[in-house]
Amino acid sequence: MKTILKTNITVRDICEGFVYNELEGKGLFGLSGKLTIQPEYQRNYIYASDGGKREMAVIESILKGYPIGLIYFNKVSDKNLEVLDGQQRITSLGRFVTDKFAIKDENGMEQYFGGMAKDKKAKILETKLLIYECEGTESQIKEWFKTINIAGVPLVPQELLNAIYSGQFVTLGKEEFSNSQNANIQKWSAYIKGSANRQAFFERALDWVSKGNIDDYMSIHRHDKNINELKKYFNSVIDWISSVFTDVESEMCGLEWGRLYEQYHKKAYDPKKVSAEVHKLYGDSYIKNRKGIFEFILGGSVDTKLLEVRVFDEATKKSVYTIQTETAKTKGKSNCPLCAIGHDANKEKIWSLSEMDADHVAAWSKGGATAAKNCQMLCKTHNRAKGNR
Ligand SMILES: [Zn+2]
Repeated sequence: MKTILKTNITVRDICEGFVYNELEGKGLFGLSGKLTIQPEYQRNYIYASDGGKREMAVIESILKGYPIGLIYFNKVSDKNLEVLDGQQRITSLGRFVTDKFAIKDENGMEQYFGGMAKDKKAKILETKLLIYECEGTESQIKEWFKTINIAGVPLVPQELLNAIYSGQFVTLGKEEFSNSQNANIQKWSAYIKGSANRQAFFERALDWVSKGNIDDYMSIHRHDKNINELKKYFNSVIDWISSVFTDVESEMCGLEWGRLYEQYHKKAYDPKKVSAEVHKLYGDSYIKNRKGIFEFILGGSVDTKLLEVRVFDEATKKSVYTIQTETAKTKGKSNCPLCAIGHDANKEKIWSLSEMDADHVAAWSKGGATAAKNCQMLCKTHNRAKGNR
């Protein structure tokens, strides 16, 4: 790969003909149309997302004469360059000189480029950037792009995969799933964590359709001219969740819906009954893990492990143990009620507290409370046997 260091390109040159696409959240072109700021393998513009602190920092650095770091271009042809690294910084510059955002001056007042003093404007526009122009094969450039993941916000794994498998499929996938203006995002956000800009929905869609083998799936479909299968599968999962669970609860966000869909979508559910059960379980203060409620219901409401039902506290166990043991001693029987009615050597055995476990007399799943009056101590063997029933 060939690289040439350019030191004479100014902010003015870069921003000549700058176009920002608000809809897609992308800086598109610069250098009088010669430069493509956001090639397919680049991520969306995210410097504006944290309240604009990052993009303001770029401008403040320039005004103070601090370097903003190396920028890398890929020379596609004599007339065409693409930004390999520096897209976020270049987009910040372009957005500022086209008055898309303001910085704060010494007195904390908002200041747009258009309203700045002439000398400050000139200082920004005449600033020279350090730019490497690289020429190489696609695979060289991509391999290298993978390793320059430098200053600024590190790439998330999906952004890296988008870079490695760039092409029509990734372009279409990002149009659908990484476009923060897509009206469906609000609905998707109920079930999927993360933001469109950082590829959360694209990643989830790929994860679901590929059953976790995103890399393979992207490699196989890289040259596809459509994303029909991906879209269809994704929408099937989303539709399934929203038709089984008619209420949206915050704990639904980020669950393994792809796996749950595969496991349960062929089973029939009555959404009204499901909704009633969700409400009942949400009102149950013994349930520690509300995230488990949805899988619990899908599986037929039997696997109480998913709910992490609260256990009896130490004080309750101790007081029940004391009462039970006193009574047992006066009767000359074992303090484990199940040993006491048995016929083996343990029927008169007094167990120590550490040899026993607390048990719900009436099972929690049948409405039994986690309170002292529903607590009995059993020897560990009997407790385990009861738990397995
Ligand atoms: Zn026992």
